[in-house]
Amino acid sequence: MLKKLMLGCASLVLALGASAQDYPTRAVNMIVPYAAGGPTDTVARVLAQSMTKALGQTVVVENRPSAGGVLGPELVKNAKPDGYTILIHHIGMATTPTLYRQLRYNPLTDFEYVGLVNDVPMTIIGKPGLPPGNLKDLIAYIKANKEKVTYANAGIGAASHLCGLLFMSAIQTDVLTVPYKGTGPAMNDLVGGQVDFMCDQTTSTTGQIKGGKVKVYGLTSKQRVASLPDVPTLDEQGLKGAEVGIWHALYAPKGTPKPVMDKLVGAMQAALKDPAVTQKFTDLGAVTFPPDKQTPQALQAHLKAEIDKWAPIIKKAGQYAD
Ligand code: ASP
Repeated sequence: MLKKLMLGCASLVLALGASAQDYPTRAVNMIVPYAAGGPTDTVARVLAQSMTKALGQTVVVENRPSAGGVLGPELVKNAKPDGYTILIHHIGMATTPTLYRQLRYNPLTDFEYVGLVNDVPMTIIGKPGLPPGNLKDLIAYIKANKEKVTYANAGIGAASHLCGLLFMSAIQTDVLTVPYKGTGPAMNDLVGGQVDFMCDQTTSTTGQIKGGKVKVYGLTSKQRVASLPDVPTLDEQGLKGAEVGIWHALYAPKGTPKPVMDKLVGAMQAALKDPAVTQKFTDLGAVTFPPDKQTPQALQAHLKAEIDKWAPIIKKAGQYAD
C-alpha cells in the first residue's frame, strides 16, 4: 500500500515536473485590470505580442476591468498557478493596499514576481473646448468653477485617481470625480466633451495630444519627454512636487513552479530587449526599466518600497474605499 502510494506520488511529481518543463503548451492569458483602449492595455498588448515570440505560444490579452483595477489581481490570485494566467498591473498594486479596507489580495504574499516593465509619466489633459490655454489658467478656471468642473478617473486606486489626488491637493481645490473602469472609456468621454479634464499616462494620451483631440496642460515627470517635446512639466510651471511615474510590472499566482517562472522572466526580458518594443515604448513616452530591474527580486523590493512610500501620503489625504 505504502509502495503504491509512493509510486503514485512519484508519478504525480513527474507529471507536474514534466508539464512545468514543457511550459507553455498552449496560450497564456495576460490579465489587464482595466478596460481595452487604455494605457495599461496598450503596454500589455505591446509586451504580449513580443512575449508570444519568446514563449512560442500566443500571449492573449484579457481585459477584466473594474474601477480601481482591483478585480484583476484577485482573479489572478485565485487562478491555477500554472503560468497560463498572469497579471500586468501598475502602481495600483502599491496604492490599493492602503486605499481599500476590504481588499481581497495581498500584493506582498499572494503573487510570484516576474519583473518591472516600464515607467510612464502622466499628462493633465482637458476636453477639446475647455477654455484655459495653459496650466495657470486651468488652475484659475478650476478654482472659479469648482461647483461644475468634472474630473474623470479610473476609480480609487487607479493611476488617474492618484494623479488627481496629487493635483487637487497641490492646487488646494477638490472637484467632482467621475469614475470609469479604465481611462480608455474615460478618454472617449473626454474627447466627446462629457467630462472636463483628467490625468492619464502618455501611453494613452500621446496620440490624442498629437492629433489635437485634447488639450494638454503638463506632464507629471521631472523632465520633459522626447515624444512630447513641447509639453512642459507641472514642476517647471510651478507645481512643485506634483510628480508621479506609473510603473508597470508582471505577476503570476503564488505557487507557480520555478521552471515556469524562469520562462516567464526570460520571455519578459527578451521582449524588453526587442527593438520593436523599445521603439513603441519610446514613442509613447515610456521608459523601459534597465535589465537589473527586470527581475523578480527587483519587483518585490520595488513593490514593498512603493507600498511604504504611498501609505503615509494616502493616509494623510484621508481617502479610502471599502
Ligand atoms: N490609466 C488608468 C489608470 O488610471 C488605467 C487604465 O485604463 O489603463 O490607472
